[in-house]
Amino acid sequence: MASDRQGSPKRSPAAVSDIYGRLTLIEFIDKRPNPAGEMVQWVLVECSCEDLTRKELRLESLRSGNTKSCGCLSREKTIERATKHGDHQTRIYGIWASMKHRCKSPNIRSAHRYVERGISVCEEWQDFVPFRDWALANGYADGKEIDRRDNNLGYNPQNCQWVTKLENLENRSNHLPESLEAWLHAYALHAGCSPYEVIKQALESYLGVLRTDSI
Ligand SMILES: [Zn+2]
Repeated sequence: MASDRQGSPKRSPAAVSDIYGRLTLIEFIDKRPNPAGEMVQWVLVECSCEDLTRKELRLESLRSGNTKSCGCLSREKTIERATKHGDHQTRIYGIWASMKHRCKSPNIRSAHRYVERGISVCEEWQDFVPFRDWALANGYADGKEIDRRDNNLGYNPQNCQWVTKLENLENRSNHLPESLEAWLHAYALHAGCSPYEVIKQALESYLGVLRTDSI
């Protein structure tokens, strides 16, 4: 009834690019039946967090504010709660949580390096405490990153170690895209140095350019 419509609060129609919390409306998908059998609008949204996760949901749960992120907000709250354990453990907790997330989510940008290659977290490390105990007993320090010795294998005590950022970068040079790796080795051969040295010099020069640009 017209009077009903006048009595309800007016809302401007939803549009592509609208932002709700961390979510941006990307696309109107289609109408699907809800549990009561009514057809309701579904939309595709993208989260503004690092992974730019996309998901489908009911337009109404977006507009009502029930859903504000891809799930990253509640993950961050979990990490916040872990601050009770102290700073050290908070950083380890963050590393643990993002390791698990990387190996679980098919939607993140780096999915081709983890989920799609079957890289997983071992049974033991599904819980935080065993992971933390392993970390503290095996060379964890602030500023170090977790590294897989064999990039074709998953996260487990046998395959993992703690390395500095630079060591991690060096290890990753084995896992560049093929074309880039071929170019890197050809260049290194030509320059008479190691591929790692080429990466280091390129990085230094890149950071140097950044510094000049920001003046
Ligand atoms: Zn998110």
